Amino acid sequence: MSRLLIKNGLLIDPVSGERRGDLLLSGSRIVRAGGRISPPAGCREFDASGLWVFPGFVDLHVHAREPGAEAAETLASAAAAAAAGGVTSALLMPNTSPPMDSPALLREYVSRTAGLPANLYFSAAATTGRAGRSPSRLAALKKAGAAAFTDDGSAIPPRLLPGLIRSAAALGTPLLNHSEDFSRTGQGVINEGPASRRLGVPGIPPAAELNAVLADLLAASSAGPLHLQHLSLASSVAALWAAKACGWKVTGETCPHYFTLSDADIRKDDASFKMKPPLRSPADRDAVLAAVLDGTIDAVATDHAPHEAALKARGLARAPFGIIGLETLAPLCVTVLVRANGLPKKRLAALTSLNPARLLGLERKGRLAAGFDADVAVLDPSSARRVPAAFVSRSSNSPFVGRKLTGWPVLTVLAGKTVFSSR
Ligand SMILES: [Zn+2]
Repeated sequence: MSRLLIKNGLLIDPVSGERRGDLLLSGSRIVRAGGRISPPAGCREFDASGLWVFPGFVDLHVHAREPGAEAAETLASAAAAAAAGGVTSALLMPNTSPPMDSPALLREYVSRTAGLPANLYFSAAATTGRAGRSPSRLAALKKAGAAAFTDDGSAIPPRLLPGLIRSAAALGTPLLNHSEDFSRTGQGVINEGPASRRLGVPGIPPAAELNAVLADLLAASSAGPLHLQHLSLASSVAALWAAKACGWKVTGETCPHYFTLSDADIRKDDASFKMKPPLRSPADRDAVLAAVLDGTIDAVATDHAPHEAALKARGLARAPFGIIGLETLAPLCVTVLVRANGLPKKRLAALTSLNPARLLGLERKGRLAAGFDADVAVLDPSSARRVPAAFVSRSSNSPFVGRKLTGWPVLTVLAGKTVFSSR
């Protein structure tokens, strides 16, 4: 059995906290975490002196674009980008073409992920064709491999949501929703406010998100568990806090761009700043950051949304929504959350690994402890590097190109095997 000893790193476990020591992986499991471990015969070694060793990141929100837009990304290129970002498990969104709404399609694509350098889990469409007219056959989709249900890219209509919440809960499979009132979004392309007026483009009012978030939380109050995707507003995270305070079974995610950037950062007609929901006001950014720090937000996910350069070159008004994120997740979290705002590293491990693993029911993922899967992300907390213009991803639509960050991945291990190394 292949063994790997990661020596002398700072081991960061979301439950027991951080301690300096060694981590021994044997086959696909962690066998020992902490203390001095002498290498068994034939064991590979990695010197992690000065480095941070995290459980591999679990990203709840990734668009791999296959089938339908393979020029932007494929399962293989998304998995490679994930590995380069320390992401060992990713939940794929179903808004492919055709959408993931049939057991046969799911089975076919699940079978294509074998041997890739990251675990790719599929979410299936919550409604047939993601059209919001009739609920999908959830039990059959789960049997075919669906790890979650969502219509991401579209919102589950309020009239179908309570029934879908109950059906998904009965199966023990998470239901995720993209909370958006499209009648309010209209033709908007960035947040409605000073930035949209300055740039002369139609705005998306905050109510497009808040109205939907409030309706979704109310549905969850009586029907059961619901996970809200990519929250971007001060009012959304306040509503999530209040819902949790009432004891409702709700969880929420945000993305690094919402706690790092605001619409004031959109200086010109540059569609690498265009995503949905849009970058909000500086006050919203600060409130989302506070909600990550205080635990209101359960998970940081990327909403990795690759697009071909030619499409993004069309400008704010005409380019598609979305930015890539897998390769910048770790350095943005380290730079913004840990370095600039004092988030304890063990909390970062909960936000990026343990909490999302628990949501997906991945019981052996999310911790650096004996018996857990040997999925590991080793980061360099000291050397600063600018985000390069070229990515492992097939696409490069990132607003962070050129930004100086620390906390880049240097080693990613999946099931005991090295899937990325920068050394
Ligand atoms: Zn979405």
